[in-house]
Amino acid sequence: MSDMPAPRTPEQPPPPASALRRALARARDGKTLDPGEAATLMHARGEQLATLVARAGRVRDAGLAAAGRPGVITYSRKVFIPLTRLCRDRCGYCTFATVPGRLDSPYLSPDEVLAIARQGAALGCKEALFTLGDRPEDRWRQARDWLGARGYDDTLSYVRAMAIGVLEETGLLPHLNPGVLTWQDFARLKPVAPSMGMMLETTATRLFTDQGGPHYGSPDKDPAVRLRVLEDAGRSAVPFTTGILIGIGETLAERPNSTTWPRRSRWPGWCSARRRGSRPRPT
Ligand code: SF4
Repeated sequence: MSDMPAPRTPEQPPPPASALRRALARARDGKTLDPGEAATLMHARGEQLATLVARAGRVRDAGLAAAGRPGVITYSRKVFIPLTRLCRDRCGYCTFATVPGRLDSPYLSPDEVLAIARQGAALGCKEALFTLGDRPEDRWRQARDWLGARGYDDTLSYVRAMAIGVLEETGLLPHLNPGVLTWQDFARLKPVAPSMGMMLETTATRLFTDQGGPHYGSPDKDPAVRLRVLEDAGRSAVPFTTGILIGIGETLAERPNSTTWPRRSRWPGWCSARRRGSRPRPT
């Protein structure tokens, strides 16, 4: 449980009715919306909201048809493998990361990893989702000692070894979520994992720089760093999932700035937004 104060979301006045009508008309006409228009549309209610949702549905359906699977939304059955719950970051809303004293071991052992993967495979999973904290060895001596005693230089080396083990022993496809990665990390992990992921979370830098903010003191939560990771994933041709967090203290205006970044930057892998309170998927 975090002892940080709950994040404050600055109050914002609603937009003029004319701005809302104009943005709605542009959405209805299929025009590309900028972040300001998208922020305005977040104030739609009642009939205007129904119109907006209907238009969004048509955009979704057109995308599915263009992809050759009209009306079909796919998903991947996956089993979560929480390789370590230690992390060097201190996100104020995190319910996943903990301290070494609360764990029997800093990392799951190879046998534990394989046991989880085999259970998942037996239940019909196709994918093993490695969830873990960001570079815990930078913060926790127990993590460094555990890895060193087993011949691993760092957490990513252990992730790589376990991905190989799961792939070879169970046939599940490893999907890696180890947090911030460099392009060298992508090169090292790409041969052992068909896909990876990291939540963009937010482009609101103030949530990282302002004392008391949910990302204050978490070096991996600088939006500039995370945007660089997404760009490197694209350049490295790594299939990559991402998304945003909602309800961590961002304003309504900051959400569309985050969600439209992939389109504005022509990033190819945008997939989903995630609502705070859904199943933890640490980054
Ligand atoms: S980076 Fe992820 S695991 Fe680490 S504290 Fe933040 S939310 Fe938790």
